[in-house]
Order: sequence, then structure tokens, then C-alpha cells
Amino acid sequence: SRALGSLGQSRAKFISAEERTGVTFDDFAGQEYIKNELQEIVRILKNDEEFQDKGIYCPKGVLLHGPPGTGKTLLAKAIAGEAGLPFFAANGTDFVEMFVGVAASRVKDLFANARAFSPSIIFIDEIDAIGSKRGGPDIGGGGAEREQGLLQILTEMDGFKVSTAQVLVIGATNRLDILDPALLRKGRFDKIIRVGLPSEDGRFAILKVHARNKFFHSEEEKETLLKEIAELTEDFTGAELQNILNEAGILTARKDLDYIGRDELLEALKRQKGTFETGQEDSTEIPEELKLRLAYREAAVAVLACFFPEPHRPFVETDINSIRSQPNMHYAEISGQVFARKSDYINSIVRACAPRVIEEEMFGIDNLCWISAKATLEASKHAEFLILQTGMTAFGKAYYKNYSDLVPNLAMKLEALRDEYMRYATEKCSSVLKEYHLAVETITDILLEKGQIKAEEIWDIYKSAPRVAQPPVSP
Ligand code: ADP
Repeated sequence: SRALGSLGQSRAKFISAEERTGVTFDDFAGQEYIKNELQEIVRILKNDEEFQDKGIYCPKGVLLHGPPGTGKTLLAKAIAGEAGLPFFAANGTDFVEMFVGVAASRVKDLFANARAFSPSIIFIDEIDAIGSKRGGPDIGGGGAEREQGLLQILTEMDGFKVSTAQVLVIGATNRLDILDPALLRKGRFDKIIRVGLPSEDGRFAILKVHARNKFFHSEEEKETLLKEIAELTEDFTGAELQNILNEAGILTARKDLDYIGRDELLEALKRQKGTFETGQEDSTEIPEELKLRLAYREAAVAVLACFFPEPHRPFVETDINSIRSQPNMHYAEISGQVFARKSDYINSIVRACAPRVIEEEMFGIDNLCWISAKATLEASKHAEFLILQTGMTAFGKAYYKNYSDLVPNLAMKLEALRDEYMRYATEKCSSVLKEYHLAVETITDILLEKGQIKAEEIWDIYKSAPRVAQPPVSP
């Protein structure tokens, strides 16, 4: 079997590759016509040559669109599972970085990896993050960067000839309306399939799939109960239906019962509706300790954002209502030319250190969690970018595509310089957070109490909180 393990060494660490997804079309219920269409693609993928002789080729790209939680990812995995092909998954947001050049090279890496294991499947979830209309309003910012990434996807998809289409690209989005039409042209994502909300029959079928490994009093009772739930769940997605059954299972165990009953199902439904109505997708029950860590992270990021304000990217608010690997801070984009100076790049390294520095300060170096790991990764990426791709440092004036292109003595030089920047960034960040320690504490308290805080309030606290003078940090 293929040695997908070696991908772990790849620079493209954000790509997750699975040799066998283990998912089949049986796992997807309702909307049978979707499966029928995709089944045909699987048949072509499996008997490539036989179909080629008849002049039938596999589409290069399949676009699945519809609301979140309707099973698009599941379908993509099922195609890979049914065809027995390796599955390379990425998210459109992975390609959207603030630094120019990164998106395109990540797209290249993704396709290069998939080709190395072809025939294979690439899945790009939330493809709208990178594939939105060019020249349109710059929602979320990073317009130029995204455009480079999008162009690279188009180049890659045009690059392989239909007759040797060994890589099937599956995209998923809930914003078909904002996709760049170039993506939908022939020879690219020319098979577009809508994955909608399930009908009542569909909901019943989905519930049955997720009840497979659950205990009911009898087969008849199970049918009756699931029928009733299917009736009560108009506008629910597959993911929400799955949640209901899981929740019912948990309630059943908590009550020490042997079988899921009507009470548990209805209670689970009520809970699911509750979260549904508040529009919260994430679990509302974030453990207390994590909440505290998230609050400190956001407070530290907020203080650094005040200390090194970004003129072109003012922050709007932050919250601790969801667990994300990146800070939850929301930024507003304002258009206009950005003249990024060397100091801006350095400040961005300092800012990126904030989650790591505050976590060590508050929880101790032996008690760090992924919040810190993510921040370190982020800060190092910024430092590497400054050194390798801007020509602004003592490293040299050339542009280096990436780390692996460096000969050993240059690599050593890079590492020394990067460590130097990281040392400065960590010290500077720590000094700012100590100086504004009271502001950090105040913002943390408000976040823990209210879950959210707006930019104006953060600015007020930042400006009025007493500061603790710190010795200067030498660059
Ligand atoms: P999307 O990619 O559209 O946001 P996902 O594929 O991530 O949705 O769906 C999340 C989960 O919800 C799936 O892993 C599956 O367990 C369940 N699910 C969603 N739709 C269906 C369906 N039609 N049949 C069975 N399970 C479903």
C-alpha cells in the first residue's frame, strides 16, 4: 500500500491525507439522486481505461454546494472510500494568509502531493474562502493573496489533461453565489451538485443511519420514534439529526437506562433546537479551564492589537464563545493601499506571540496547551516570511520560495536569524503584556462574564488602565 505516512515530512502540514476514508455511500442517507450521480463518477474512477475506450472521462472537478452540515464532506469521503483512493483534504481558509505568495505555493504543494499518489482525490472545503469573485468586495480581506491562490487552482486544474485526469478535485461551499465564475467553467468544476436540506423521508433515513449503533427497545419502537422525530425536525441538517441521536444516547446513559426512549429523544431535540436558535454551531459547553485560557488569549491579543494597531485592519470585537485554533479576534477590513514596512512585519511577529506568552505567564511552562503551539507556529511563519521572502533582512536580498530550497549553510543562517527575531518578539511581547497587565486582567474578567467585548471598550480599558513600567527590550 502507498506510504502516505511520508507526507508527514512534507512542508504542507496543513494537508491531511487519509489512505482509506472508510466512508461509503451507505453512510449518506436521503437525496438518493446525489448518490446516483456520484456513483457514476466512482465507476469511471475505478475502471478508468474501460471508460476511456468509450470516450467517457471523469470530470476534473465536482462542486458540492449547500448549507453546512448537509453531508458534503461525508460525500467527498465516500467517493474516495468507494473508489479506494487516497483523500487529500484542505480548507479554503488554509490558503488565505496575510502574506503574499503563501496561498499559491500551498495550492501547488497540495496538488503536487495528490499527484504523487494519483489516482487520488483532493477535497477543498469552504472553497469560497479562496475562490470568491475577483474584483468584488474584499470580504475578510487578503484580496490580492486570495487571487493568487485562486489563479493557482485554475492553473493546476487546467494543467492536467482530461485523458490523464488522475486527480479528482472536489470542492464544497455554502456560497455558490460568490464563487468566481472562472472556477465553474468547463474543464474545471463542471459538475455542480446541490446538497440541500433533507426532506422528511430523508430525515428518517438519516436518523436510521445514525441509530445503527444505538440501542432501542425493539425494532418497531425504533421505527416509530424515529418517524416522529423526522416529522418534528423540518429544516434540520444531517449533522443536527446526528447530534440529536448522540445527545439522546448520552442522556440515556446518564439516566442509567438500557434503551433510548421517547423522553430522551424529545429532550435531545429540545436541546438541539436551543442551540439551533441561538445560531451557535459550536458546543456551548466549553470547559471552564479552556474558557479561562481562551479569555486570556483573547485579552492578550487585544492588548497587543492596541499596542501595535494595524491601520488597514482595525479589530472590531472578540469573544470566547467558540474554540478555534486561531484567536477569535474579529477584524474589519478597510480598503486602500497597504505599505507594509519592515517594522510592520516585525510587529506582526510580536503580535503572533501573544497567546504563547500569556499562557506561559498565567499557567506555567509545563502547563501549556495547543493555544501556545498554534501561536508559536504562527509567529515562526511570520519570521520565516520576513527573512526568506522580503529581502529586508541581513539574510540577503534574494527571494526564497521556501525553507527546503535552502542549502545547508543558508538554512543554518536562517535558523539563527529566525531565533533572533523570535527571541526579540517574545521578549517584546512579554514586556508589553507586563506593562499592560491590568488591562489584560480587566478584559479577561469581562470576557469571562459576558463572553464578548467590543473594540471601543477594549480601547477604553487599554488607555485608562494603570501601566507598570518595563525596561526597554533591545532589538
Ligand atoms: P458539510 O460538509 O456539508 O458541512 P458534513 O459532511 O461535515 O457536512 O456533515 C457532518 C456530519 O453530519 C456527517 O459526518 C454525518 O455524520 C452527518 N450527516 C450530514 N448529512 C448526512 C446525511 N445525508 N446522511 C447521513 N449523515 C449525515
